[in-house]
Amino acid sequence: EEIEHLQGGKEYNLSQDNELRFEVENNEIVQMEIKEGLAEVFGSELMKNRIYKFASGSKIAVFTWQGCKILLRGKTEVAYVSKETPMMVYLNTHAALEQMRQQAELEATRGPKVMVVGPGDVGKSTVCRLLLNYAVRVGRRPTFIELDVGQGSVSVPGTVGALLVERPADVEQGFALTAPLVYHFGATSPGANMKLYEILTAKLAEVFAMRCKTYSRIAQSGCVINTCGWIKGEGYQSLKYAAQAFEVDVIIVLDQERLYNELVRDMPSFVKIVLQSKSGGVVERSQGFRRFTRDEKVREYFYGFNCCYYPHSFEVKFVDVEIYKVGAPPVPNSCLPLGMTPEDNQTKLVPVNPGPEIVHHLLSVSLADTKEDDLLSTNVAGFIVITNVDMERKTFTVLSPAPRPLPRRYLLLSDVRFMDIK
Ligand code: ATP
Repeated sequence: EEIEHLQGGKEYNLSQDNELRFEVENNEIVQMEIKEGLAEVFGSELMKNRIYKFASGSKIAVFTWQGCKILLRGKTEVAYVSKETPMMVYLNTHAALEQMRQQAELEATRGPKVMVVGPGDVGKSTVCRLLLNYAVRVGRRPTFIELDVGQGSVSVPGTVGALLVERPADVEQGFALTAPLVYHFGATSPGANMKLYEILTAKLAEVFAMRCKTYSRIAQSGCVINTCGWIKGEGYQSLKYAAQAFEVDVIIVLDQERLYNELVRDMPSFVKIVLQSKSGGVVERSQGFRRFTRDEKVREYFYGFNCCYYPHSFEVKFVDVEIYKVGAPPVPNSCLPLGMTPEDNQTKLVPVNPGPEIVHHLLSVSLADTKEDDLLSTNVAGFIVITNVDMERKTFTVLSPAPRPLPRRYLLLSDVRFMDIK
């Protein structure tokens, strides 16, 4: 078999413990090949004789423990080699977690549950990916819990979920999303509905605990929990809530001494809290860029990575579905019926009549069979987006990854919108 190699481009020689960082320019693709030595991207090893392609907006770090030669071709916004990285600290963290897993194996107990916290843009998702990759590379089957509803990587924005990691993340595409467990939240910040966020956090913790009971390998491998960058006020409360719900053993605080001190003060003493610095390579992302990545995430859901799928478009009759939104708009306490709290309002299922206002919205297709199933805490089969509403014919058109008909009757409306244009 003939092996394709990169022609031209720029070569980078990395000494041991160095990292090549680059960002791909808008509307460009950068190709990369490893010529000599060994290297990894966020914990996934690079293979020789393979050309890796990165799309615009990608921010990549190629790290080498031994030294290597990397070839890049295409327009990068920045590309430089750094000698200063916190990779040794992260590797030591992995080693400590691995010891806890070995202990768990010996004693037939459960492995470490680790939560990664910190403000936005400190590399939380990247540290999660690294720890999961290192764990799976030594034969573990860790579970990834995604609580970041804004920039999550398990499913589309506005969801939380869990994923059993069975192989290292693909260098270009990330973790294989076979059979993730996904729940509808419906907004990109937990603050949109704190009560619902807590319910879903508790649900994920419960499901994970059940799986641990059934499968000892999953229990001993533990989990890695990614969180939102919202760490003040209610955001901080939600972190504490998650720590309790999952009964975490370790909290890694990235780059925020204040948050570290608060957690040391508020967490029980058996929770190990460590403060670690962020990598200098983590790139700050603007609001605009965050919107772009959210949009790309939804596009990828429907069209696949590199547009390798083609979604279906079909009509749905109003009578065949029921659409709900979780949470009624807040009303002043004095207006609530006797015996009701504002929190009850947040968990209310409000029926939504189809109309032009739902066009471009994402809807979660709940796996609930009947309305008596708890729609709030039932996981979802997948997502559709409404592309048109025909009030006269009482139908709407949807974009769907699967052909008609919709697998279930109950749909949950999300604030997240997607325009199918490019
Ligand atoms: P958020 O709170 O917004 O979810 P985060 O703290 O999880 O952010 P990441 O998503 O892990 O941050 O990282 C932000 C960006 O920086 C990502 O695009 C990631 O690929 C990039 N990045 C992380 N580490 C490095 C590095 N060492 N060199 C270059 N880029 C990096």
